[in-house]
Amino acid sequence: MNTNRDTLSLYNENILGNYAWAPVSMVRGERSRIWDESGKCYLDFAGGIAVNALGHSHPHWVKRVQEQAATLVHCSNAFRHQNQGLLAEKLVQRAGPGKVLFCNSGTEANEALIKLARLHGQSLAGKEGVRYKIICAEKAFHGRTFGGMAATPQEKIQGGFRPMLDGFSFGKLNDLESFDALIDDQTCAIFVETIQGEGGVHAANAEFLHGLRMLCDKHDLLLILDEVQCGAGRTGRYYAFEHSGVRPDAIGMAKGIGGGFPMGAIWVADKFTGLFKPGSHGSTFAGSPLGCAAGLAVMEIIEQEDLLGQVTRQSGPWIEALKAVVARHPEHCTAVRGLGYMVALAMVHDPLPYITQLRDNGLLSMRAGDNAIRLLPALNATSEELAEAVAIIDRTLSTFTPPSAPAV
Ligand code: PLP
Repeated sequence: MNTNRDTLSLYNENILGNYAWAPVSMVRGERSRIWDESGKCYLDFAGGIAVNALGHSHPHWVKRVQEQAATLVHCSNAFRHQNQGLLAEKLVQRAGPGKVLFCNSGTEANEALIKLARLHGQSLAGKEGVRYKIICAEKAFHGRTFGGMAATPQEKIQGGFRPMLDGFSFGKLNDLESFDALIDDQTCAIFVETIQGEGGVHAANAEFLHGLRMLCDKHDLLLILDEVQCGAGRTGRYYAFEHSGVRPDAIGMAKGIGGGFPMGAIWVADKFTGLFKPGSHGSTFAGSPLGCAAGLAVMEIIEQEDLLGQVTRQSGPWIEALKAVVARHPEHCTAVRGLGYMVALAMVHDPLPYITQLRDNGLLSMRAGDNAIRLLPALNATSEELAEAVAIIDRTLSTFTPPSAPAV
C-alpha cells in the first residue's frame, strides 16, 4: 500500500527513536533486489540481517503463505496443526535425534535455551538454583531480552538495564583453556554462537568446538549452540556446526528459518527432551500454521533448488574474489572473514561511511562488530549477483577517501 504519506514524517512523529534508520524507505523486493521510494534499486546483501534466506518474495514462498493465510493463520498451541509437526520434522532430520519447540525470534530461542540450561542444572543438583551458571563467549550477541542481554557482554547492549540476570561468565572464543578455567560446580551449560555474527563474523573453529564438547561431557554441561544467524543454510550446511562434526545438546535458531516471517525455534537432543514439561515454557504466537507454512516453504525451496549445494559451490570463488579486492585496497581493508554467505570485510577505518557509500553505489551491506562490513546474500543469489557485489565494492574502494578515524 502506498498512501503517498511522507514515510520519514510518519516515523519521526510516531515511532520511538530506537533505531538509527538509514535515510531510505523501502517499498518492494524481488529475489536479491530491493527498491526504495525514489525507485532506486539496490542489490540486497544486508538480507534483512540474514533473514531473507530466499531473497524477497520468492514465488513459492508467497504462494504457500497466501494459501495458508486463506486457510488458517493461527490457532495457538492449545491445538495441534500439521504444519508445525512437518516443519519440526524437517529441523530434526537435519539436527539429529531430538525435538523442537517453536518461538518467534532469536532472542526468544535463546531465552528458552537459558531456561533449558537452568532445568538441566536443577536436574543435576536435585535442587533449584544450585547449578545455574552459563559460560558464553566474549563478543557474543545472543539478543536483547534479559536472558539474551545477560549472555551478551557488551556495554552498548547491557548499559542502562542492569542488574543483569545472574550467573553468566565469558571465555575467549577459540581459547578452550579460558572456558575450562570458568567451569565450577555451579556451572550447567556452555553457550556460544557457532559463528559470531554481530560481534564481527568470527567462527568457532572445529578444534575449539570439539574441545567444548569434551568439557561439557566431562562436567555434565549442556553444549548449546546459537545458530540464529549462521544457521538455515547460510554457510552451505543447514546448520553451521555440521562443518565441525560436533553434536550439540541444543540449538537456537531464527532469522532465515521463516524466510522473512518472524520465527524462532530450539532443537533439543533426545537425551534432554524430558527437561521441558507441559507449562515449562510457552508463547501465544509460536509455531503458527502461517509461520510454519513460511518455514516449510523455505525448506522446500532449499531442497528443490539445491541451495546448500549452490552456496557451497559459489561461496569459495566469491570469497576468493573478495580477497583479491581486499589485496588491491590495503589502505581500506585488511582481511575477509567468514564462511559461505556469511562474510565480513575487516576494515582499517570506521566501516559506516563505507556502508553508506556502498548503499549509494547500489549495494546494501551491514556493519558487524567495530570494524567490519558484513555481506549476507540470499542463498539463491546468482553468481552474476555475487560478481556484481564484488565489482561495486572494488569500485567504491577505488574512489573512496579513507575517513580519518581508524576502526576501534
Ligand atoms: N543470536 C544471534 C546469533 C543473533 O545474530 C541475533 C540477532 O542478530 C539474535 C540472537 C537475536 O535475534 P532476534 O533479533 O531475532 O531476537
